[in-house]
Amino acid sequence: MIELSEVRKKYRDTTALDGVDLHVREGEVYGVLGRSGAGKSTLLRTVNALERPDSGSVRVAGTEITALGGSELRAARSRIGMVFQHFHLLRNKTVEANVALPLRIAGKNKGDRGPRVAELLDVVGLSDKAGAYPAQLSGGQRQRVAIARALAAEPDVLLSDEATSALDQQTTVEILDLLRRLNRDLGLTILLITHELQVVTRICDSAAILRAGRVVESGKVADLLAEP
Ligand code: ADP
Ligand code: ADP
Repeated sequence: MIELSEVRKKYRDTTALDGVDLHVREGEVYGVLGRSGAGKSTLLRTVNALERPDSGSVRVAGTEITALGGSELRAARSRIGMVFQHFHLLRNKTVEANVALPLRIAGKNKGDRGPRVAELLDVVGLSDKAGAYPAQLSGGQRQRVAIARALAAEPDVLLSDEATSALDQQTTVEILDLLRRLNRDLGLTILLITHELQVVTRICDSAAILRAGRVVESGKVADLLAEP
């Protein structure tokens, strides 16, 4: 579903990605684990084409993302859902309006948006908060809204940029379990980046450990943890 091959990215004298190979299979939860500065955000940004690598190939759902521009790029991006550490909700819009945003952008009319938004809020357990504003919600609830929004356009894949790093332990576990449930129930492929081992051990099928822009280990989480 996502395939990176020999991806390199340099910022002036800093090498952020130093020949990264990564293969995320359809239907799996894949974690990229690494310390601050390892290159995780850069890696994720190459997948949604916010960043163009200096060389190498990035394929998402069969499309070479590095080769796209203009409307093709926008179309490819709309097939990718994103969630962030700080949620990135629009604070002057209700929960309902935040979740509906990708549907509006996709040109869905109001009659189609309503039922879809209701369904998404039900999936993330926030049906009773449809009319609330982000400021009236807890961190965990805000992240649920962001997840519902990310799923609105039925993406092929969900990218998570440290989605639980701003949350307390109990809320972290709730959000991780929600992501796991979405993966199981919808067959959603998830690629996440994190600096927390527990995220990988709790929900990931496979993982890569990134250090100084290189994948130093990768494979099934069970195998990675079994090693001495
Ligand atoms: P991580 O997400 O693992 O913390 P990043 O991908 O953000 O790592 O950064 C990898 C390296 O690239 C770091 O050394 C960082 O300082 C550098 N870097 C990231 N973005 C930029 C940028 N826009 N300009 C210059 N250097 C950058
Ligand atoms: P962060 O979570 O990264 O600290 P904020 O919580 O300040 O950032 O904002 C989250 C996102 O919502 C940002 O991308 C910002 O551009 C956007 N945003 C914040 N307030 C508004 C607003 N009143 N109208 C539109 N967009 C907003």
